[in-house]
Amino acid sequence: MTSPAAPRPRAEIVVDLDAIRHNVRRLREQVVPAAVMVVVKADGYGHGMVPVARAAREAGADWLGAATLPEAVALREAGDEGRLMCWLAAPGEDYDPALRHDIDVSASTVEQLAEIAEAAARIGTTARVHLKFDTGLTRGGSARADWQRFIAAAVELPHLDPVGVWSHLACADEPDHPANDAQERAFREVLAMVEEAGLHPEVRHLANSAGGLLRPSIRFDLVRFGIASYGLTPAPAVASSAALGLAPAMTVRGSIVLGKDVAAGDGISYGHTYVAPAPMHVGLVPMGYGDGIPRHASSTAQVQVNGRRADVLGRICMDQFVVDAPDAQAGDEVVLFGPGDDGEPTAQEWADWCDTISYEIVTRMGGRQQRVWVGR
Ligand SMILES: *Cc1c(COP(=O)(O)O)cnc(C)c1O
Repeated sequence: MTSPAAPRPRAEIVVDLDAIRHNVRRLREQVVPAAVMVVVKADGYGHGMVPVARAAREAGADWLGAATLPEAVALREAGDEGRLMCWLAAPGEDYDPALRHDIDVSASTVEQLAEIAEAAARIGTTARVHLKFDTGLTRGGSARADWQRFIAAAVELPHLDPVGVWSHLACADEPDHPANDAQERAFREVLAMVEEAGLHPEVRHLANSAGGLLRPSIRFDLVRFGIASYGLTPAPAVASSAALGLAPAMTVRGSIVLGKDVAAGDGISYGHTYVAPAPMHVGLVPMGYGDGIPRHASSTAQVQVNGRRADVLGRICMDQFVVDAPDAQAGDEVVLFGPGDDGEPTAQEWADWCDTISYEIVTRMGGRQQRVWVGR
C-alpha cells in the first residue's frame, strides 16, 4: 500500500548535507597541505550549525570555527570532539565552559590574555589561545602599536599556550586590491616578531574563503572556510560557485497559497507601488520579511513557479508577497532560490537584487519555514 503523498510544505529551507560534504572535500583538496577550518558561526550561516558541523567533520574538516563562546560550547554539547576555535568574547564573559570543553580561544589585547589566563588558572588548565593581530582590516586584532607588548604578555603569562597566530583580510574578494599585499607583508612581519620572541605557533592562519581560493601564498597552515563550505562563491566578480566547483547547499521553497486574476490598473500589495499595466494572473507566496526574505527585494527579485521565473510584484510584506505567474494555482511549488541547476534563482542573484552579499541572504533565512536536512 502506498501512503498518500504528503502535501507540499507551506515554507521550507532545505539544506543538502551532501553538498556541504562535497564542498569541504573539494576545498581540502584545493589547499592541501594546509588544513581546513569550516566556519559554522551564526547557525552555520543559516544552514543549521550542528548538522553542518557533523557533515563537515565527515568530509574531513580538521577544524571547526565559531564566533562566540556559546556557539563553540554548543558544538561540544552536541558531541563534537575535534579541534574547535572561537574568537569573539566581551570583557567579563565566562571562559570556563569553553576551556573545560577543550576549545581554542582567541585574544586581541593584553587584557583579554589576562582574563583567559585567570580563567585557566581557576580551573587548573592551560588555555590554547590564538593571538590575533590587526594587519589592516582595522576591526579585531592587536593594533600594530601594541604588537610588541601583546607578544610579550603572551610569552610571560602563565596558563596560556599560544598555539595560533592569526589575522583576517579586508579585501580578499578583490584579489588585485593593494590591501592584500599589504596584509600579507604585515602578517609575515608578525610571524617574524613572534618567532623572535621565542614562540613557535602550531597554526598560522590568515585566509578566509576568498583568500584561500584566490591567493595560494597566504594559506599558511590553515584556511578558514565559511561561505565556500556552503557552496557559495566568496568573490562573485571573480568566479561563480560553479566555476569554483562548489555546490550551493540551501534551497528555500514552498507552496503558492493562492492564484488570482487582477485587472489592468489594480495596485498590488502595500502602497500600491506596483500597478498592473494589463490584466494578469498572480500567485501569493507565503513568506515575507518575518521569515528573512529581504524587503529590499520588493519589485526586483524573482522566484520560480512551475519551472518558470516569476517577478516579485510590489512590496514584500511580513508574511507574504505576490508574484507574476500566469499559471499559478494554490498548491503549486514556488522556489525562491536554490543551487540554480533547474533554472531557479540563486542566493547570489537575491544578493545582487538586494545590493548585498550571498552571506547575508542565506544567514538571514529563517523564521517560520521548517528547516530540513537531506543527504544524511
Ligand atoms: C566569518 C569568518 C571567516 C569566514 O569567512 P568566509 O568569507 O565566509 O570564508 C573567517 N574568519 C573570520 C575571522 C570570520 O569571522
